[in-house]
Amino acid sequence: MILTIRTYGDPVLRKVSEPVGKIGPAERMLIASMLETMYKHKGVGLAAPQIGINKRIFVADDGEGPDVFINVKITRPKGKAVLEEGCLSIPGINIDVERPNEITAEYIDHEGKSHKKIFRKLIARVIQHETDHLNGKLIVDYLPPEELKKYQAKLEKLKSKDTHANT
Ligand code: ZN
Repeated sequence: MILTIRTYGDPVLRKVSEPVGKIGPAERMLIASMLETMYKHKGVGLAAPQIGINKRIFVADDGEGPDVFINVKITRPKGKAVLEEGCLSIPGINIDVERPNEITAEYIDHEGKSHKKIFRKLIARVIQHETDHLNGKLIVDYLPPEELKKYQAKLEKLKSKDTHANT
């Protein structure tokens, strides 16, 4: 099922999401719909708050196939890189974001299996971007105040938009 993507200004994007307790049929169905929605919008990642659910789940595909991350914990950041990022919840705005180039992520997958892996480059960036969503943080928060002003008009426009316009 294709889900409606919530856009900038929706309060659901600013909440801290809750950990997932059990992964059952409802969660697996949600994950399948999130993947479908991500692919439809040609995204490389999609977090549950972006479809209106404040649970610590996100999906990603950096070109190597789909991945599901539940209750992710990021540790051991290494290096730094700046890369332009976009966000399905903030269409039309791309921002240079500095992030660690390598991270270790501990998480559970859609089958409930635990993983602890090192991620580098694009997928490491996607994991960090999506984890930000779970903590109510967006790419525009990385902008210094004077830079943010440049985007203010565009952001106000997104805020006033009907959220159903992005389906
Ligand atoms: Zn995003």
